[in-house]
Amino acid sequence: MTTESVEVGGVVNAEPSTTAATTAVNETVVLHDGGDGAMGERILDVRDFSVDYGWGENAVRAVDSVDLHLDRSKVLGIAGESGSGKSTLVYGITRLLRAPGVITGGEARFNLGPNDDGRGERVIDLVNANERELRAIRWSSISIVLQSALSALNPVIRVGTQFEQVLKSHRKDMGKVERRARATELLAMVGLSEDRLNRFPHELSGGQRQRIMIALALALDPQLVIMDEPTTALDVVTQREIISELFELRKRFGFAMIFITHDLSLLVELADEIVVMYAGVLMERASALELYEAPRHPYTLGLLNSFPPMHGERKVLSGIPGSPPDLKNLPGGCTFHPRCPYAMPRCSIETPPLVDIGGTGRSVACWLQVNDPDVAVPVELSRSYPRPVATDVVEETS
Ligand code: SF4
Repeated sequence: MTTESVEVGGVVNAEPSTTAATTAVNETVVLHDGGDGAMGERILDVRDFSVDYGWGENAVRAVDSVDLHLDRSKVLGIAGESGSGKSTLVYGITRLLRAPGVITGGEARFNLGPNDDGRGERVIDLVNANERELRAIRWSSISIVLQSALSALNPVIRVGTQFEQVLKSHRKDMGKVERRARATELLAMVGLSEDRLNRFPHELSGGQRQRIMIALALALDPQLVIMDEPTTALDVVTQREIISELFELRKRFGFAMIFITHDLSLLVELADEIVVMYAGVLMERASALELYEAPRHPYTLGLLNSFPPMHGERKVLSGIPGSPPDLKNLPGGCTFHPRCPYAMPRCSIETPPLVDIGGTGRSVACWLQVNDPDVAVPVELSRSYPRPVATDVVEETS
């Protein structure tokens, strides 16, 4: 591991061989052509994206032919249990995957916005970008907040120095006084006072460290911030505070966000759109409210029944029986069938494709949802959205 990548910690630069954090990026880099087709409001467009761990006959498919997209200033939630491939997917897209992870197919186009002359867009294909191109956009255009702030921040360097290093590396035009002022401003944005700059990470609470991670991620005004379970290790009160602050910041600065969590009820409150992953595959995609009010996939329903809602009525939590499958030994047909209470004979033989339903951009991979007249869809998986408005019956009095 290079000394440089160690020094600044892990807001974005989780890959030992990369030195994005400490490499000057003010140089002009001609970005890899992202291919044909204007992206417009779309900031990220991922198609047919696959990741394996290992090579040859020992390879295990961790992400399988995933399609997803994200528009500017929007929040995409990625939900699923541990091992479902959520983190592998985003580390693959951002090219932060560690060996033996290998991208085995697909594309991930990132839209940096209009060209300087206002004509056309600067689009980079992240899958084919070289290290120099990646360095030019990491942190300044795409940043990541990792799960554990304690392991991501450098334990032997004061917080202020870690801000100093990031700004010095990426903002050559800033002097020392400006860098200190910017670090103070960033801390204030996440509710921390300037004196925290003089502390070491171990002198701060878990919530304070995670706030510092978020402040570091925002240091260069990125267009896309990826949050990989940023509040999982925190108590619920601190989690709530940080989430609220985060969304205030997003409203204020307008960055797009990908938020990864296993807690689907949390995502419902935060995201515009949600994708649900299981065994490396997208099982369902829908707007957050639609997914919450009218789930179509039994796995989504199981996740919703596994966490208490943030608001509203209390309900009995039922969870999902069994455990996620071993990726080296996936069940045939629908990979969820050994745990699915609605499994039919067909489910263990044929793999359901992800198909669009309803024409509103939502899709699902389940044999229950293919309009087969011989299959009765259970009421809990066929609710309408939006819910029909109840009409008052006015009794006539004569
Ligand atoms: Fe369950 Fe079958 Fe649908 Fe898979 S395809 S989720 S096993 S009903």
